[in-house]
Amino acid sequence: MTGRSDEFARISRYLAPLTEGFPGAFGLTDDAAIIGPMSDRDIVATTDTMVAGVHFMSDERPDLIAAKLLRVNLSDLAAMGAAPLAYLLNIALPASIDDDWLGAFVRGLAADQAAFGITLAGGDSVTTPGPPTFTVTALGTVKCGWAIRRSGARPDDIVYVSGTIGDAAVGLECLQREVAGLTPETRDELIGRYRLPRPRVGLGGRLVGLASAAIDISDGLAADLTHILDASGVGAELNAAALPLSEALKAVLAREPDILTTVLAGGDDYELLFTVAPGYAARIVKIATDLSLPLTPIGRIVTEPKLRIVAPDGAELKLARKGWVHGRKDSE
Ligand code: ADP
Ligand code: MG
Repeated sequence: MTGRSDEFARISRYLAPLTEGFPGAFGLTDDAAIIGPMSDRDIVATTDTMVAGVHFMSDERPDLIAAKLLRVNLSDLAAMGAAPLAYLLNIALPASIDDDWLGAFVRGLAADQAAFGITLAGGDSVTTPGPPTFTVTALGTVKCGWAIRRSGARPDDIVYVSGTIGDAAVGLECLQREVAGLTPETRDELIGRYRLPRPRVGLGGRLVGLASAAIDISDGLAADLTHILDASGVGAELNAAALPLSEALKAVLAREPDILTTVLAGGDDYELLFTVAPGYAARIVKIATDLSLPLTPIGRIVTEPKLRIVAPDGAELKLARKGWVHGRKDSE
């Protein structure tokens, strides 16, 4: 125990240093932050709340809680094609949380601020009799009128997904049961993907003016693709054999073919799912090379407003559930 300093001391000692590089935060010494005008940029705003015992385990490491909180917000900015600008942080902590804990939480924020290019601009701090609760409101910017919406997918567009999918969902299963085909290392790798998402911020920016629609995969590939289809008034044919899987997940799939359902329906990937007119395929290849990030075509948009998934054996795949639309999923 290092004890617990008062609210003002906590703000100036732990939080104010996180505003370095953002003059409009005034080092958290004023009532609010000021964001200067940008004539040619729209501001994109998003927020996410995480409650201990609901969205993360109560004994989770504070730096990982901080990182996940920031990253789920960054992922939403990326899905809109926005570049990170600044964020506001609301923390509601029980009186029992000491300065050591807060220090570790702040170190997690500092590391990700540096990694993703975003700074703290303000927030609020309260004491609560309930579980620790955190909210980040992230602000990003994008060229006026150019944010990528869910609604722009058109027939014949190609459906792409970044990185590999299913790792986080199978990682979560690893925490709950014995999953076949994994070494201790690959098991840890999958669990790591669940505990700490990797928001595709660089990719989001590169997709502006190129992707007709985009979404970050938090509810599961099938559910999030359905969100694009609904918003765009189109359908899609998805080729399950084309899904990009990590080596760890391929090993699991070889032993447990049914895990394909988890890959399609499980959440927490935080990869970007996006659609692109077929003429732009070469530009997507170039971006994948530049970012050293796989960008895989997994299907195409069709006129009939329905999602058809073709299984690796050529049969049509029916999903019992399309994802965690409501229920267990984190950010409800
Ligand atoms: P008020 O009494 O008006 O709520 P506060 O004392 O809460 O003001 O806040 C003073 C300053 O500290 C403000 O600039 C506010 O944005 C900042 N601040 C307070 N809590 C946090 C926090 N958790 N994260 C970042 N900034 C904070
Ligand atoms: Mg306040």
